[in-house]
Amino acid sequence: MAAVFMAVFIFGWIYPILGFFIPLCMILGIGIGLFKGRKFCDWYCPRGSFYDAWFKSLSPQRKIPALFKNIYFRLGVLLFLMAVMVVNLFYRWPNPINIGMFFVIMMTSTTVLGVGLALFFHQRSWCSFCPVGTIANLAGRNKFSLMINSQDCNECKACAKVCPIQIEPYKFKKTGIREVKDFDCLKCGTCVAACPKKALSF
Ligand code: SF4
Ligand code: SF4
Repeated sequence: MAAVFMAVFIFGWIYPILGFFIPLCMILGIGIGLFKGRKFCDWYCPRGSFYDAWFKSLSPQRKIPALFKNIYFRLGVLLFLMAVMVVNLFYRWPNPINIGMFFVIMMTSTTVLGVGLALFFHQRSWCSFCPVGTIANLAGRNKFSLMINSQDCNECKACAKVCPIQIEPYKFKKTGIREVKDFDCLKCGTCVAACPKKALSF
């Protein structure tokens, strides 16, 4: 998927019609979000895959700022980008080349921002407040949830170390089997595989 993203990122400037790949991804991300939360953001998302594939080794792996995960900040980003999209669609309608070019510009500018954040904080910093991720977070709550067996967990923190979006599943243990109530979980299963006590499951 990272290669697909790179192709659209480069050739979209020559063939703006490729820009329609972006709303297609948005619809897919939100659609999957209704049933499986942020599952799309794992490797189905071309941009998320691009950040993981190209910037994981380049990122200093700093903590993603709490502001980026703040719901009000995220809703602000969502509303701002939606407003920009609606205004542009209004003025560019019905020319498909102009509309495609808008999506290419929007993808390029937000990706450049995400690359900057990857190089300064963490490769998935952008994903913490990506509008599609925010909608999937809100729409997919309590769907396909990661569960923790509190009795089995010994708080070794191996799960937190491998999580691509810096979730700390062990912090949700209390008594019995509990839902890991962090709705930014990408459902990637990396922590499930890493847990030496088999305390995590979907
Ligand atoms: S890896 Fe497993 S045992 Fe270790 S803290 Fe996480 S859930 Fe608990
Ligand atoms: S590592 Fe675990 S908590 Fe982190 S995104 Fe993947 S499934 Fe969710």
